[in-house]
Amino acid sequence: MFKNKIISKAKELGFDLIGFSDYQHLNEETSKLKEWLNKGYQAGMSYMERNVEKREDVSLILDEAKSVISLGMNYYIDEDFESKEGKVSRYAWGKDYHLIIWEKLDILVDYIKTLDNTFEAKSYVDTGPVMDRAWAVKSGLGWQGKNSNVISKEIGSWFFISTIITNYEFTEYNIPHNDFCGTCTACIDSCPTSAIVEDYVVDSNKCISYLTIENKNKIPDKFIGKFENWIFGCDICQDVCPWNIKFAKQTDCKEFEVIHKNLSVSEVLELNKESFKKKFKNSPIERTKLKGIQRNAEFLMKRN
Ligand code: SF4
Ligand code: SF4
Repeated sequence: MFKNKIISKAKELGFDLIGFSDYQHLNEETSKLKEWLNKGYQAGMSYMERNVEKREDVSLILDEAKSVISLGMNYYIDEDFESKEGKVSRYAWGKDYHLIIWEKLDILVDYIKTLDNTFEAKSYVDTGPVMDRAWAVKSGLGWQGKNSNVISKEIGSWFFISTIITNYEFTEYNIPHNDFCGTCTACIDSCPTSAIVEDYVVDSNKCISYLTIENKNKIPDKFIGKFENWIFGCDICQDVCPWNIKFAKQTDCKEFEVIHKNLSVSEVLELNKESFKKKFKNSPIERTKLKGIQRNAEFLMKRN
């Protein structure tokens, strides 16, 4: 069967989760997004304000869109930090995941085209105007938890989501995943900056992940002493999630080899443009540029 062949190939390439949704407008999700934007919770991520109509309707991305395939790739490495200094979010411990997953998606799409040469696709990994989390829920990969991450009952939330929009119509689709957060509030209670302002809603203005990565400005002084040594990203609301505590398992993907788990604050402050480029080549940490990572290091120094 066509779908089974896609599933086997995806698994062979290292994807852990795969699900299929039929084409539909994401009305409910878009109105929640608009509400979130109206409250200014996107902070400096103005790109979130653009292309809302494409996020709602994927046929504005691929004319003949009939289905969406969501894939999840587990990146969990069963190791702890080397020290408490300058912690890096797990997703950034190794090589930039875009580089790893784009290649695998290309191979997958090329393979599907050999099965049916009318298959057309647009693929995304965490970039582009696609509501990847909403599609992952619709495709049955997991549910969007109160910390806003998609959680799988099989592997928790330590996985990257990719999305393929296609003109292919499948005969069967997954059903959207139920929510299994229940009465748990561990993520909300543990967030050191109270960034989860209500169930399922994160205010980026307060989120360490945003403040240390996407943010281009000074980190507000009101957060001094609250960053718990995170220099790039923050994993607290995932670390405390009972689904991760119970079900996270080591990734099979060898490409997610650890390069940077901790950064020495003093070493970061000594970097120059050249040494920064060399040290973080092909790492997600490149994203902050030298200025951003040094701002984070200086901010962590302020607590003392
Ligand atoms: S990533 Fe950190 S700061 Fe952001 S919501 Fe989660 S616990 Fe809070
Ligand atoms: S910590 Fe609890 S409330 Fe938060 S995402 Fe996990 S299960 Fe849901």
